Amino acid sequence: MPTPVKLSPLAKQVCYILTGGDTAYCNFRFGAQQVSQAKFQDVAWHISVGAIQVTEMPSGTETAAEYYPCTAHPDKKATLQVKASLNQADHIAASNVIHEATHAMQDIQRLILAQEDAEAAAFVAQAIYFHYHRFPEAPVTGDSASDAIMEVAFDIASANVGGFIVDPADEERLRKIILAHPHYRSNIDPVFKYRFPGVAIPP
Ligand SMILES: [Zn+2]
Repeated sequence: MPTPVKLSPLAKQVCYILTGGDTAYCNFRFGAQQVSQAKFQDVAWHISVGAIQVTEMPSGTETAAEYYPCTAHPDKKATLQVKASLNQADHIAASNVIHEATHAMQDIQRLILAQEDAEAAAFVAQAIYFHYHRFPEAPVTGDSASDAIMEVAFDIASANVGGFIVDPADEERLRKIILAHPHYRSNIDPVFKYRFPGVAIPP
């Protein structure tokens, strides 16, 4: 069994968000992808044994959190990067951790996914978080292309309480709005996929 590593306060905060009430209602299927609290707990386990490192976002970075597979990080380690000020009472920041942890979950399973499918699952997980925290509607961040995605994801999350399967019409609606986002649109390519390399567990 791998040995637990000493976690930073920031890594502990991330694990707290992933293993408690914040992910309790996150249980759905998008196509072949299953997202569940057990899988978020598995991400937290990978953090606890040092297989996924949690690092501080450099100051001045615009995004709230990022996930890097080992092949995309200079340390050659799977990395979840979050803001130093992360606090579970800040729902937007915590929701971003849930989004990025969904990508970590995809990486652990070494999934090969169309970009829009990888993002769709992450946005739905994030939207369930907002719904669970009783947001009456999707929060508006001012990034209109992202807000438009969250609006559709929130609509799906709030119409499907409990465990659910995203229906094909909703899958399509979500893929379409994701591909309308300039960041994702720039990668449109019929063969473009997220090829998650997997997460190495230290001995
Ligand atoms: Zn994403």
